[in-house]
Amino acid sequence: MRPLEDIYSLLDTPRKIVITMHQKPDGDAMGSALGLYHYLKTFGHDVVVISPTNWADFLHWMPGTNLVVDYEREKGRADLLLQHADWIFCLDFNVLSRTKRMEESLAAAPGNRILIDHHQQPETARFTWGKSDVNKSSTAEMVYDFIKESGGANRMSLDCIQCIYTGVMTDTGSFRFPATSASVHRLIADLKDRGLQHSVVHENIYDNFTENRFRFIGHVLSHLLDVYYEYNTAIITVPQQILQKFDIKTGDTEGLVNYPLGIQGIRLAVIIVDRGEERKLSFRSKGGFDVNVFARKYFNGGGHASASGGSSYEPLEKVKQQFLVAMKENAAELSSYSF
Ligand code: 5GP
Ligand code: MN
Repeated sequence: MRPLEDIYSLLDTPRKIVITMHQKPDGDAMGSALGLYHYLKTFGHDVVVISPTNWADFLHWMPGTNLVVDYEREKGRADLLLQHADWIFCLDFNVLSRTKRMEESLAAAPGNRILIDHHQQPETARFTWGKSDVNKSSTAEMVYDFIKESGGANRMSLDCIQCIYTGVMTDTGSFRFPATSASVHRLIADLKDRGLQHSVVHENIYDNFTENRFRFIGHVLSHLLDVYYEYNTAIITVPQQILQKFDIKTGDTEGLVNYPLGIQGIRLAVIIVDRGEERKLSFRSKGGFDVNVFARKYFNGGGHASASGGSSYEPLEKVKQQFLVAMKENAAELSSYSF
């Protein structure tokens, strides 16, 4: 993988460009993809964003989402776009398998893949150019850096700015996680100077729940949360019939895993959601327990040291038991935190 800087001088020549991100894109995946989309359009490139799957309703307000191609719904068109793209930007993931059913077409596409990402252990051999930096708060911050370093700060439209802010805001937990560096705050100040309307973004993301989603959260916290104080660990398991009962859609479970981390003493939180086709796990930690390593070792996953995910095809109860075994295997580290 050659340095991302090598493409700065190539930006002026119009090309066919695809931008994609990980399946079930979150605020950072969608925000960075659309932020880059709005920037690249100013050069006259032919740009299309393809999402490997659908995305949460609370992201629909973002400028440009109406033009995003859902790979699972429009596979034929998306495959053609991938085949003919000169450049394929891969944002907020670093292993092609994170694009699920799109993986095969993405791997076979003849164009150059370009990585911009902040996760651990990138498959660098799969990308022509790119930048991978695990110290960055978000991929959206990296897109902002890319725009500034390539000399395009004045090309950032208000749409572009709102999208970038969404990515940085969601991936930093509204500027509270440790990766929220001084440069993140400088970025926000710069975006404010350029017209950012931050409260519009906060309202669209956080005050945009359906009533069902609130009642679902109440049910989950009352009935589906187990706390293992001895291991400083909390686990939520969500059966499929509960998702159906509350009419839960893509993205509605996002953020739930953070609630148990607010319990005194809890250092590891996990949520296991039975999505039917698979059991999806999300891990969060505080105080240094490395959930990237944990997700890789036990659940075929990965991510960051303090936020990661994985998946399993075993039944929900079995996955829960496997997690409890893994938790006990890590008892020495998990139990050692003192408060
Ligand atoms: P979330 O729990 O919000 O889905 O994901 C937390 C972090 O872990 C995100 O940065 C996400 O990209 C990453 N992640 C989630 N699931 C997986 C997975 O199955 N494999 C890998 N490699 N990363 C994942
Ligand atoms: Mn991210």
